[in-house]
Amino acid sequence: MIRAMAIFAAAAFQGGAALAETTAPTPPPRPGALSPFSHVDRKAPEPPPRPDDLLSYAPEAPSREQTLPKIEADASCRALLADASLVTETREPISGAGGCGIAAPVSLVAVVLKDKRRVEVAPAPVMRCDLAARLGAYIRETVAPATEFYGRQIKRVVTADAYDCRNRNRQAEAKLSEHATGGAVDLSAIEFVDGKVLRLADKTNDPAIANSLKQSACARFSTVLGPGSDGYHEDHIHLDLAQRRNGYKICQWVLR
Ligand SMILES: [Zn+2]
Repeated sequence: MIRAMAIFAAAAFQGGAALAETTAPTPPPRPGALSPFSHVDRKAPEPPPRPDDLLSYAPEAPSREQTLPKIEADASCRALLADASLVTETREPISGAGGCGIAAPVSLVAVVLKDKRRVEVAPAPVMRCDLAARLGAYIRETVAPATEFYGRQIKRVVTADAYDCRNRNRQAEAKLSEHATGGAVDLSAIEFVDGKVLRLADKTNDPAIANSLKQSACARFSTVLGPGSDGYHEDHIHLDLAQRRNGYKICQWVLR
């Protein structure tokens, strides 16, 4: 009898140990460990995100998933990108974990200026099509006219980041970044044909040019973060199309 009880107790103990292992919390995946470029089959409907995936990544992810702009529909994108001044390449849908992904991504390869010259955007940023259209217009209508003078001609707009499955400022505890849904792009510099470079975050830039670039960016995008904003944007300008209540915008770019 005693022997039987001892066996029972040992079994119960093992069971308890097994239970403790299976109920231990799973650490959230690091953004870098996710696979932002895992493609989904175009023909297959995109499966809804599993709640446990979203919760293990960030508590707020489910609501973000539900509020992805309708602009991602293919038809809307085609209309937005029909502008001949935008040179874009369509990409396969991106379905990432934890709310990351873009339904109809494009990369903005170049922008054709009013006099037909072509300005490269490099590395070609992958983003939502509405952001590509907005960025293209900013380059064509503001960046080029504001910086091309004394015969200087823009060759390239240099980007620092675009689609990126990560949290804000790469901080583990932060909210999901606008970059993670293709709604944000970072610009670092403008390169001219003569080899000169204008670094956008350089506080020694001509104040009139810098102010023109800033004011137009803040009118076109819902978030503009540059030097002096939060310490994470001292060498580039972050632009995004975050949707906030009452159309609230953030424009933080200290020029000098
Ligand atoms: Zn950014």
